[in-house]
Amino acid sequence: MHFSIVIFEIFLIGVGIVFLVRAFFPIQQLILELNDTSLQKRWKVLSLLILFFVISYAIFALNLWLIQELLNPLSIVAALMLFGGGVFVFLVGQLALHTMSDVKKIALLQKESITDGLMGIKNRRYFEGRLHEEVAHSKRYKLPLSLMLLDVDHFKMINDTYGHKAGDDVLKNLSALIVKMVRDSDVVARYGGEEIAIIAPSTPKNEAEFLAERLRGAIEKTTIATIDTTQEVIQVTVSIGISTLGPVVQDRDALVEEADNALYAAKSQGRNKVLSSRW
Ligand code: GH3
Ligand code: MG
Ligand code: MG
Repeated sequence: MHFSIVIFEIFLIGVGIVFLVRAFFPIQQLILELNDTSLQKRWKVLSLLILFFVISYAIFALNLWLIQELLNPLSIVAALMLFGGGVFVFLVGQLALHTMSDVKKIALLQKESITDGLMGIKNRRYFEGRLHEEVAHSKRYKLPLSLMLLDVDHFKMINDTYGHKAGDDVLKNLSALIVKMVRDSDVVARYGGEEIAIIAPSTPKNEAEFLAERLRGAIEKTTIATIDTTQEVIQVTVSIGISTLGPVVQDRDALVEEADNALYAAKSQGRNKVLSSRW
């Protein structure tokens, strides 16, 4: 009987130590994968506490052995508590690692669900929701709001001349260029095939015209793609239609319609042009 109690205690202590040591691995992995340095610090403190726990645990076991107190009921309770502590820390480490990887997956899925796969900017669905919010916000706080619709001129010709892959490269590089040139608070989204919409919050008509003109000029001057095999350079121009919230253009639909009309007019007037809606 005594012998089996001693074996049981040694078993508890041994397994507890194994769990504590094993808890280190998920926690170290977690520290490596975390981007947030303040969180990393906190997990490092936890690692140190585990180390402290392992050492105290080992000293405790050694003492029990040395003073031959393994049969004392209190040492059985202490062994049980320490065993529970070891399992607890191990589970916390594992769960934290799993939770972090799930959260990362969800964040990635969320990002993918609002991003256009080819252009790497926001997609149409996101644009619709965001425009709705921005219109409501601007009306409530009486702030200006502009919308730009940008369409590549004669893009069919690019596809026909250089192929669809070159066309895709043009769209990718064009959107990257636009994102680089606008403010962080502006929303750049793929509106349709080769049409890009830019929502510019707190931006009155004259500022939107200035930005659109800067974009148009920069795009015209940039080598937007190069053909790998022939080193031929591709350049494009764009037409941009602008609308701004005001006494006549009062809602999301009107804003889009007016920007679309202005874009159409810019196309009719020869392309490579910025035009604003009348209102
Ligand atoms: P316009 O100056 O009047 O705009 O002439 P356009 O040739 O650009 O005419 P339009 O805007 O109607 O043509 C859009 C073309 O864009 C047609 C379509 O084949 C092409 N396109 C749409 N989406 C993609 C895409 O994801 N990749 C590529 N490579 N081409 C696309
Ligand atoms: Mg076009
Ligand atoms: Mg188009």
